[in-house]
Amino acid sequence: MNSEKLSIRLAAVASFVEQGTTLADIGSDHAYLPCYLVKVGKISKAIAGEVVKGPYESAIKNVQKKGLTESITVRMANGLDAIHASDGVDTVTIAGMGGPLIASILRDGADKLHSVKRIVTQPNIHAMSIREWAVQNGWKIVDEQILKEDHKIYEIIVLEKGQADYSELEMTVGPYLLEEKSEIFIEKWMRESNEWKRVLASLETAGDTVEINEKREQLREKIELVGGVLTN
Ligand code: SAM
Repeated sequence: MNSEKLSIRLAAVASFVEQGTTLADIGSDHAYLPCYLVKVGKISKAIAGEVVKGPYESAIKNVQKKGLTESITVRMANGLDAIHASDGVDTVTIAGMGGPLIASILRDGADKLHSVKRIVTQPNIHAMSIREWAVQNGWKIVDEQILKEDHKIYEIIVLEKGQADYSELEMTVGPYLLEEKSEIFIEKWMRESNEWKRVLASLETAGDTVEINEKREQLREKIELVGGVLTN
């Protein structure tokens, strides 16, 4: 992968960035995503934010190598601290991290989101944390995608400002993904459900403490909730 040819996963994230927007890509190891979007002419200005020195330096090098220093500013910063009010950022991408980390970056940077119209997230695991953050903070889901690359399944959740109500099942599996019910979606929830069943079976002989009973109950509830999707 490089900024001329993105991975399938990052290309899908890029497809949700709208033409002519000003982007902040947070956790921008190598700055592949902003470099690609500027190169193809979809955007003309971006911030690449990185908290770790090594990836930050890779991002700087890559932006220089591509001759894009006029268009892309690379900043070493924690989360949304990379965004300055004068940047006029209206789109944020956060990809390739766990859902809880993405949600915590959004929570901690709430004051940086006033001018932002669209957030494109790609959680590697626990996407539900992002849906929970969204409904608690005045954002709604406007699109979702599920895809597979190198045997790994990834979800993309696109948020815009607004209110929406979601059922427990929609919060867990995603309202748009549930509606679409693609083969990859079924495969993902089969995998998750089988893992929950495996853990539940291993807990059957683990004794009868309050915690173990609670854990069993939670697993049974999740298996039942998602089971409906897999059988219909
Ligand atoms: N976004 C790229 C992608 O999807 O291919 C890189 C993903 S990489 C696995 C995650 C990157 O996020 C790492 O470079 C890590 O240093 C960075 N990161 C993690 N927490 C961060 C934070 N709080 N603020 C900025 N960057 C962060």
